[in-house]
Amino acid sequence: MRHINIPIFIPHLGCPNDCVFCNQKTISGHCNYDKSGVREQIERALETVEKDALVQIAFFGGSFTGIERDEMIYLLSLAKEYIDAGKINSLRLSTRPDYIDENILDILEKYGVKAVELGIQSISDKVLLASNRGHTSEASVRAMKLISERGFELVGQMMIGLPGSGIEDELETARVICECGAKAARIYPTVVFYDTKLCEMAQRGEYTPLTLDDAIERSFRVKSVFVDNGVECIRVGLQSAENLSDASKVYAGDYHDAVGELVDCEIYYSKIAEYIRINSLEDKIRGKNIVIHAPFGEVSKIVGHKKKNKLRLQDEYNVKNIKVIEKKNILRYNIYIDLENE
Ligand code: SF4
Repeated sequence: MRHINIPIFIPHLGCPNDCVFCNQKTISGHCNYDKSGVREQIERALETVEKDALVQIAFFGGSFTGIERDEMIYLLSLAKEYIDAGKINSLRLSTRPDYIDENILDILEKYGVKAVELGIQSISDKVLLASNRGHTSEASVRAMKLISERGFELVGQMMIGLPGSGIEDELETARVICECGAKAARIYPTVVFYDTKLCEMAQRGEYTPLTLDDAIERSFRVKSVFVDNGVECIRVGLQSAENLSDASKVYAGDYHDAVGELVDCEIYYSKIAEYIRINSLEDKIRGKNIVIHAPFGEVSKIVGHKKKNKLRLQDEYNVKNIKVIEKKNILRYNIYIDLENE
């Protein structure tokens, strides 16, 4: 069944925290959030929703459970009307680990929240401190476990390339998110917005922004942890609507939507290499034409950007020619290889 989110962006206007990467405070002055317009936004979105889709109203953008309590209840009650009327199925929201406790979860449960997306960012205390995140990894683990144990769908959001963070910290973050029962994850390579502490750090030379290649390589390795643990990776990189900003506001790391596709190309190449190694195909495919059987809709990722994966296969394994055939019964991130009949 198709899953559709009706996203309602709630900027955390009164957020007392000061994460170095956050641009919410600088954009809040020209953010068009208007509480009275939320109903109309939902109604408009519902007009375009296909029948039989699984529909959720999704409160994204800030730390939903940290906004003023009356405001939160108002928005939850409004959304619940649509569940009660059978127009949507449930609610999802994003928040911070230190804004989760039993009492908050009682409220969320009462109003039909099914999925809680938690901004973990990093499981390393050193990275959380350097990012001025304002909580420890212990708070993150506690909140993740509480959400999972209470039967909500946990989505772990994490960042790549925060100050002081290396690939080992990021792999560990992904592993802990899996261990804490996450059903899904989002990976955000760090974007450096103007008018943030992170931008000042970069301008002073105290922080080196990720290059696009770094962002892809590290996101690929982190996403592989989620794929191998059966945790769905909903997205890599900010959506243009999600950063509530535009490219002119970005000092470094303006990764376009294609970053997710490029990461998937790397995942498929690693799956192809693994298949060849496990099945000892190195000698059998040398100088031959091969057929890669692929999941439906994934051919371009297997071929790679500008045919990168095909070229690598020819270069590294001396394969003569590569044909990719899609099949409906192959699961995502799975492939198998045959020799082509000559
Ligand atoms: S990223 Fe940090 S500073 Fe920005 S709204 Fe969220 S908690 Fe507040």
